[in-house]
Amino acid sequence: MTTPTEASAPRLPGQPFFHYRDAQLWVEDVSVSALARAHGTPLFIYSQGAMLSALDAYRRGLAGREALICYAVKANSSLAVLQTFVQAGCGLDIVSGGELIRAVRAGADPRRIIFSGVGKSRADMRLALELGIGCFNVESLPELDVLNEVTSLLGRRAPVSLRVNPDVDARTHPYISTGLKDNKFGIAHDQALDAYRHAASLPGLEVVGIDCHIGSQITEEAPYLDAMDRVLDLVAAVEADGIALRHIDFGGGLGIDYQGETPPAADALWARLLQRLDQRGFGDKALLIEPGRSLVGNAGICVTESLYVKHGAHKHFLIVDAAMNDLPRPAMYEAYHAIVPVELLDRPSHVYDVVGPVCESGDWLGRDRRLAVASGDLLAVCSTGAYCMSMASNYNTRGRAAEVLVAGNQTQVIRERETVDDQLRLEHGLAPALRPRT
Ligand SMILES: *Cc1c(COP(=O)(O)O)cnc(C)c1O
Repeated sequence: MTTPTEASAPRLPGQPFFHYRDAQLWVEDVSVSALARAHGTPLFIYSQGAMLSALDAYRRGLAGREALICYAVKANSSLAVLQTFVQAGCGLDIVSGGELIRAVRAGADPRRIIFSGVGKSRADMRLALELGIGCFNVESLPELDVLNEVTSLLGRRAPVSLRVNPDVDARTHPYISTGLKDNKFGIAHDQALDAYRHAASLPGLEVVGIDCHIGSQITEEAPYLDAMDRVLDLVAAVEADGIALRHIDFGGGLGIDYQGETPPAADALWARLLQRLDQRGFGDKALLIEPGRSLVGNAGICVTESLYVKHGAHKHFLIVDAAMNDLPRPAMYEAYHAIVPVELLDRPSHVYDVVGPVCESGDWLGRDRRLAVASGDLLAVCSTGAYCMSMASNYNTRGRAAEVLVAGNQTQVIRERETVDDQLRLEHGLAPALRPRT
């Protein structure tokens, strides 16, 4: 057996911010094993450099335009992550009252916050109006009416965009495809004009824009161009009807490299989209975009310790201390995350199913992965900056992992590891009146 060298290091998404140096995994200028020793596992480690570099690609693509990049909070809603984007000049895209409060605590100007989502409650609407939210992306006729009612109680008009469903296939996983006409999202293309007329007739609403978001982990340019064409057709029809639209919001959805995918770069994609926008005579519209995954997905890893190597009759299992409660995407979407050793060591290699300790067969992190590891070794689950921590749960009374942010050689714990006491804090033991008789 040969000793692994850097030349034989596994493929690593998120380079150059995650890289091997002397057969050890580093995040920027910090050693991953040193962080794991200091803070325990499972541990999310984020590279702020990777986040800002992903943001820069969008900025280059939109340079010279009136454009606001609204980071989609749900991808990774940790305060310090939100602050990174807010302080870098981004607005935020939120989908709940909870995210609104997070966004404000992170220092976001409410006027730069966009409120998306199909099921906004009256309480959420009221809070957003009181704070002076930038725009509601409204997804149905009844929502328009309810929002109008809420404004009448507050004596304040609500800026609204309609989220239209362009009925294009984003060619992504069905659970994260949102722009087809049978999805629950958005207002159908052929009902949109009537919906705009209705919105314009309601005294509490001020129509300001149009919005679409066709899905997530999109790896091709074509669905974006198709969606843009469909949306621009509507802009033309709505404006011909006498309803002016100040901005066009193209949502998020750009994919990342989990497994060698080659999505368009944000700057190249936007160069193409802006070209189309200009060709069609809408180059003067203000633009909003709502990227989530593409800003943070490849900026994070989750470090986990291998607990047991179990050689079954037909399969080898590597049981690690991270699980579906920390990393729900494989269980939810059969998603792929690269899994790599933190230290490249001379170990026998086997093809493993990498699984967590949770009592569910769906609790797997990777299948059929060739890995040279022994129990006690550290592994990094890659591309886990988006839709991992923000989806984490306490199933099996597992505390949520700690999170560390790295910038150059600086590190900060941005979230402590959750304890069992943290989890029990809201629970009450059985009252005497409810005690079972024995
Ligand atoms: C989830 C979501 C986004 C972000 O999607 P990504 O694929 O993470 O870029 C943007 N807008 C809306 C309305 C969303 O629901």
